[in-house]
Amino acid sequence: MKVPMLDLVAEHAPYRTQLEAAFQRVLNSGRFVLGPEVEAFEREIASWIGVPHAIGVSNGSDALLLALQAVGVGPGDEVLCPTYTFFATAGAVARLGGKPIFVDSAECCYNLRADQVVAKIGPKTKAIIAVHLFGQCADMDPILSAAEKHGIPVIEDAAQALGAKDKGRQAGTMGTIGTFSFFPTKNLGALGEGGLITTKDASLAEKIRKLRVHGAKQKYFHEMIGGNFRLHELQAAFLRVKLQHLGSALGKRRQNAGKLLQALQERWSAIMPLSSCVCQGQRQVGDFKPGTILLPFSCHSGEGEHTWNQFVIRMHGQGKRDELREKLANEGVQTEVYYPRAMHEQECFLSQEKSFPVATLLSQETLALPLSETRYLDS
Ligand SMILES: *Cc1c(COP(=O)(O)O)cnc(C)c1O
Repeated sequence: MKVPMLDLVAEHAPYRTQLEAAFQRVLNSGRFVLGPEVEAFEREIASWIGVPHAIGVSNGSDALLLALQAVGVGPGDEVLCPTYTFFATAGAVARLGGKPIFVDSAECCYNLRADQVVAKIGPKTKAIIAVHLFGQCADMDPILSAAEKHGIPVIEDAAQALGAKDKGRQAGTMGTIGTFSFFPTKNLGALGEGGLITTKDASLAEKIRKLRVHGAKQKYFHEMIGGNFRLHELQAAFLRVKLQHLGSALGKRRQNAGKLLQALQERWSAIMPLSSCVCQGQRQVGDFKPGTILLPFSCHSGEGEHTWNQFVIRMHGQGKRDELREKLANEGVQTEVYYPRAMHEQECFLSQEKSFPVATLLSQETLALPLSETRYLDS
């Protein structure tokens, strides 16, 4: 058996001719960076998401950096963010000299705990980054209302959540700024690197456009210190092709996720450990027999709103996750651990507060499974 996490060659096969035509178009144009393809892609994806401003950038990590810089995060500023996330979320804060203030995760959807965000807002809090982890939206309402009360901008790290919704609202349209990644493993993947920033605020959009090209609106006349965060024409042209198929690709992921959830319950006796969302409450998952498989709970992205960028289960009990991973690997089934170490336990962030019990537990117990089929559950 050979089951990869993701088979991009197979995924691209149905629109290979369109991708090749996009390549020819860019090759023939002689324009390779920030040109008509990027402009067209920005228009098309802005309309797909339903947001007035979309700015194509170099990648999702730089998108976060630009977003934080645009809202004025600088040395000494504190930014609240989850500890259980991809490094780039907290890394962007530190790259600007800011200090990430971590928040623990909720056991329902693995997203940041909204009640802890609200409780940790302090005088030095300059921004909040809510990550929509694995394709499911974080609990935005309490975060948005607390942020508004304190006049703090909210950045949505929607790198894994293009097309996800929270109560009908698209990821990347709820906060002050949304950031996206087109890394090949994301649901809209470039054939290389790319990223996007969304906002409803015209003046922030203009500032971000300047920051993208060394802080200059007019070439060689610099109003602020930016950098080179440009998106390539070739990637924009490929992304335009793939954007046309994104709706059906997400539909298929949702269908596969539904099948996998059901099959895991039937064949591996997986259980849904929660019957309601605990994004605003204490840890609720009790003790289960070691080896019990716990399924993710969909709370803030309801039916048809989760994008399942990763299908992540929990394998309860010390060392059990790694045993399962090894067993599957021996059978040719690829899995991945997102993420084996939370940010507060990373060498570069060690000075931070240390107690985030749920995030630590998740880093020991979660396993991402291939979504495309369920046959491997029979082995
Ligand atoms: C992928 C990802 C990023 C970074 O995107 P890149 O394009 O790889 O730089 C940031 N945040 C999260 C949550 C991600 O999953």
